[in-house]
Amino acid sequence: MMTAMRKKVALLGATGSIGKSTLDVLRRGKDMFKPVLFSSHTDSVGLAALGAEFPEAALALSGVEQDVSCVGYVGKEGLLQAISDCGADIVVNGIAGAAGLAPSIAALESGMDLALANKETIVMAGHLVRALAKAKKARILPVDSEHSAIFKLLEAHGRENLAAILLTASGGPFRTYTPEQLSRVRAQDALKHPTWNMGAKITIDSASMANKGLEVIEAVRLFDIPVSAIADVIQVLVHPQSIVHSMISLKDGSIYAQLSQPDMRLPIQNALYYPENAPSGFETLDFKQLTLSFEKPDGEKFPMLPLAYQALSAGDLYPVVYNAANEVAVAAFLAEQIHFPDIARVVALTLEQNWDGKPELGAIRETDRRARSVAKSFIKTFNTLSFLPIM
Ligand code: MG
Repeated sequence: MMTAMRKKVALLGATGSIGKSTLDVLRRGKDMFKPVLFSSHTDSVGLAALGAEFPEAALALSGVEQDVSCVGYVGKEGLLQAISDCGADIVVNGIAGAAGLAPSIAALESGMDLALANKETIVMAGHLVRALAKAKKARILPVDSEHSAIFKLLEAHGRENLAAILLTASGGPFRTYTPEQLSRVRAQDALKHPTWNMGAKITIDSASMANKGLEVIEAVRLFDIPVSAIADVIQVLVHPQSIVHSMISLKDGSIYAQLSQPDMRLPIQNALYYPENAPSGFETLDFKQLTLSFEKPDGEKFPMLPLAYQALSAGDLYPVVYNAANEVAVAAFLAEQIHFPDIARVVALTLEQNWDGKPELGAIRETDRRARSVAKSFIKTFNTLSFLPIM
């Protein structure tokens, strides 16, 4: 193969968990990739180190208002400007939470491919960003491990042959807890995730299965699943070993799976090299050492999962509410203001209000803002003084 020009890469959320995995892929592929932009929310020290390692890359610090560290771009608007200035071929969005939406839009507006680890972009504005990608002839390449797996499986076997998606879930650290044990969970217990090493928000989401709920929504939006068919087409399967990253079931009855070590570098690499399949050097699987098990998720113990299906069928903006109320509730849980089962109670109560509307950017932003305020008002009514001592 001829040596092509290096692909220009912008990495958003460069100092976070996805960022670190992406940097490993970039360092291993120095001849393939040229970093042109790194962003971090507030980690000026980490960002400066990246600036020293890759002097040609621009730097953006999105969570500060003044450029005291002389990084070049600061603040939310600075980050959007940095994206449109950087000339990247592909933008890896590893920003956590709803804050990742505007940068995703900025990347697509500039016609850049989007390697998307920020699931909120699709959960909140899937219709909009997919239409934008189409108009700008840009690709959205999922980096979430399950969606990366489904994406590759559908490419290999044909979207038109799809009967069902079997979306796997680790089940989180409390999979086997009783409801009574769940009510006593503290933030520090939830932060010990069994398989993946991730940030605090996504770790709590994994424990509550909100992460899987968000991923159900993400799959519906990414893979064009009609609302009426969601319950049949998207089936969540608990798979504690996190080796099967998802499966597709075809109309002919055959099922195809993607298996690999639980290592985020692989879906990141797949997105960055797309459409190539590049050698990775990552550890592969030894089937002689493997036992794989699957079970049905418990929607009663983990109501965040059925709530995601309810949000999808309630209307286009309800997934925005699901996400916003969950973000607020998780923050309250981490601050020990509410108990673990209250996270789902806050989300359920918030979803009960009327959120009808069209999935346009203004309505999405307003719904997000209002849902957060409604969720906060519910949290205030909860009894926050009843934490039992840890046994
Ligand atoms: Mg995932």
